[in-house]
Amino acid sequence: MSGQRRVDHFLFLGTGASAGVPVVGCKCSVCLSKKPKNFRFRPSGILRLAQDNRQLLIDATPDFRSQALQFGIDRLDGLLLTHTHFDHIAGIDDLRIFNAWQKQNIPCLLSRESFDDLQHRYPYFFDETAQSAKFAFTRLDAPMGEIEFCNTKIGYCSYRQARMGVMGFRVGHFAYISDIRHYEASIFSFLKGVQVLVIGALRPDPSPLHLSFDEAIAFSRKVGAQETWLTHLGHFVDHDDAHQLLPAGVRLAYDGLEIACTK
Ligand SMILES: [Zn+2]
Ligand SMILES: [Zn+2]
Repeated sequence: MSGQRRVDHFLFLGTGASAGVPVVGCKCSVCLSKKPKNFRFRPSGILRLAQDNRQLLIDATPDFRSQALQFGIDRLDGLLLTHTHFDHIAGIDDLRIFNAWQKQNIPCLLSRESFDDLQHRYPYFFDETAQSAKFAFTRLDAPMGEIEFCNTKIGYCSYRQARMGVMGFRVGHFAYISDIRHYEASIFSFLKGVQVLVIGALRPDPSPLHLSFDEAIAFSRKVGAQETWLTHLGHFVDHDDAHQLLPAGVRLAYDGLEIACTK
């Protein structure tokens, strides 16, 4: 995308659950479907900031290389990491190519918990002599707050998915809250005034690690978002059929969808 934007945009690079859709070996109707909106890479997106055309990636999935090629991602100004489950970080080594193109370490914003886990899983990122992706880490020690990162005010808020701490992010009237199951009531003061909400919801039925569609809809109503996009969708979800279950203002996201971050 070229030219200056008037408002921030968010491009969905992936809207699938941890196994992606289709699921390898699955013969369900969604996995066998040829409808493009039923093809889902692992969950991630690019925040495109109007102010200076910066591009911030949210999570680096195992599909990152394919996502970058398919959606023409040729520059990265920063990485926001929600948490360190496989489906959100397994493509992080592939960001190395941007070190080469841009001749700098990639700024990365993450929680203390994610930072500690990254040190454990990817010790070579912290070895100056290693030929690997290189980052300039900004570690968030507080559970909630706001920070200047890549020239932009980023709000952050932590919640839990089983034993893993997850960060949700907010820029202006836009928020990205994925992999959420349990949260404190204070998340609603953090999200006050959000107009465009992206929220993780695995499927219509309840599940142990994610919100159901009804729970996500109730969450969005509490936030008061004008527009809500469900992401992190499993293979039980046929895009067209599922839309009939959703009330006005709540839609299913799909790979390649680009939305404005303000209403
Ligand atoms: Zn996930
Ligand atoms: Zn399936």
